Amino acid sequence: MAIVETLAGRAVEIRARVAASAGRSGRTDAAVQIVAVTKTIPAATVERAFELGFTTFGENRVQEARAKIQDLQLPGIRWDLIGHLQTNKAARAAELFSRIQSVDSLRLAELLHHEASQLGLVLPILLEVNVAGESSKSGFAPGNLAAAAAALRHLPALQPEGLMTIAPLSVDPEEVRPVFRELRRWCDRLRQESEGWNELSMGMSDDFEVAIEEGATIVRIGRALFGAKA
Ligand SMILES: *Cc1c(COP(=O)(O)O)cnc(C)c1O
Repeated sequence: MAIVETLAGRAVEIRARVAASAGRSGRTDAAVQIVAVTKTIPAATVERAFELGFTTFGENRVQEARAKIQDLQLPGIRWDLIGHLQTNKAARAAELFSRIQSVDSLRLAELLHHEASQLGLVLPILLEVNVAGESSKSGFAPGNLAAAAAALRHLPALQPEGLMTIAPLSVDPEEVRPVFRELRRWCDRLRQESEGWNELSMGMSDDFEVAIEEGATIVRIGRALFGAKA
């Protein structure tokens, strides 16, 4: 793959790769949302990405995101939290983010529900799933998802949109294909039981093409867009 030197050039290349992978899964690129991951990326660069048509940005940390969100009040801009949320930051997160992709416990869901109710809003969320059972990662064990989904029906200030996972690190994206496939199966099961559960957030810079082939509707891309050491 040629080395592309500019943000605009990398944006074109990533969009082409997303469209090609979507095609291989019988979909169009409209079925796959690119969340541009902007942790460590300065606000000015985020603004350039916005001008290139990226509208949803992913941040890992409430504190870092807060400054950028306040700096960049652009029409239509949206911010997703994708990193682990400490319970003592739930209030701030419910206020700042359009969607929380990293809901990794029922306790956190209950807190976010409380905060969203206070704010008078319905907060879209994804449940983070630890598909491979890695001890270093948080998230629901797949076997607990059905019970979690049932519990969420009692939390009307949360809108469960789907599932999110971070695949194990691997040099060969083919190795993590089964993880993506499994997440998709769990999501299909939830959808049989209740409304919603249409989103599958899986795939990052090194494995988004495989994730899309396996049904990702959201990919979270940082380095491939902003450069390896942006
Ligand atoms: C950093 C991060 C990404 C983006 O990773 P890249 O490899 O830079 O594309 C996606 N998801 C989460 C949860 C992250 O923390």
